[in-house]
Amino acid sequence: MESILKNAIKNNRNWVELGQVASYIPELAKGNRDALGACIFDTDCNIVLAGDYETRFTIQSVCKVITLICALIDNGKENVFLKVGMEPSADPFNSLAKLETRESHKPLNPFINAGAIVSTSLVSGDNGIEKFNRIHSMIKKMTDNDDIDVDYSVYRSEKLTGNTNRAIAYYLKGANIIERNVEDILDTYFKICSIEVTVKDVAKMASVIANNGIAPWSNEQIIPEEVNRITKSIMTTCGLYDSSGEFCVNVGTPAKSGVGGCIMSVVPNRMGIAVIGPSLDQHGNSIAGTKVLEELSRELKLSIF
Ligand code: GLU
Repeated sequence: MESILKNAIKNNRNWVELGQVASYIPELAKGNRDALGACIFDTDCNIVLAGDYETRFTIQSVCKVITLICALIDNGKENVFLKVGMEPSADPFNSLAKLETRESHKPLNPFINAGAIVSTSLVSGDNGIEKFNRIHSMIKKMTDNDDIDVDYSVYRSEKLTGNTNRAIAYYLKGANIIERNVEDILDTYFKICSIEVTVKDVAKMASVIANNGIAPWSNEQIIPEEVNRITKSIMTTCGLYDSSGEFCVNVGTPAKSGVGGCIMSVVPNRMGIAVIGPSLDQHGNSIAGTKVLEELSRELKLSIF
């Protein structure tokens, strides 16, 4: 497995030149375009690292998976999907367009920004700090890493420039989809997106989901089985923004990407995989990271289809 992962990194490094680091959040523009690293953590706790695996990055949209898990645990499936849909979207992640045209005003799914803001609003907690602590402790549990913290310069940058997210959240409040203090919910969302991790952390989170919600290192059921099943389904249909279909065909695993350049991939009953490559394609997915996952899928026969 080690040589397969090392080769996948080596064979696909050149792709970084064809993408661009996200720049709509000024602090993200400082990301290293040339970095490419990966980690596999399997359900027997074997770990393989390759390339620039020490790169630290912000979790960005990968956090939407954990927020959905917390929202489902705290509210139950029916209550969550009353407020957010479960259908893929062909629009960019931060689009407002469909909110107005859909009769219910419900965001299409929990992995576009509008849907993730709704899930954040549903997580238990009377205020932003309590909601943040709830999601933060779930991330610490799923990574088995108590040192996980926020990159405060990215957080400040998100907060200062996140006007599209602000527009989305106020629209949702106007449509009675979200309740409570909008600024509090946004603050939690910006902070969770700015959590700093490595590929090892993300591969471990993916391994819990791959292992039916059970942490491979402790055998603790962290995520209830039904919540875990729903999460894998939404990752499969909606995890890669508006190129989720293409990813399904070429890789074929439940996955979630983020504009920090990470892709988390779940291979049910086998392993969690994380790649980092801040150079992004036009959809906002790591360009070389996607290619690494395609090669791994071919070599290790990872597609669930
Ligand atoms: N914090 C980012 C935003 O809301 C997350 C985007 C992403 O990774 O897709 O704009």
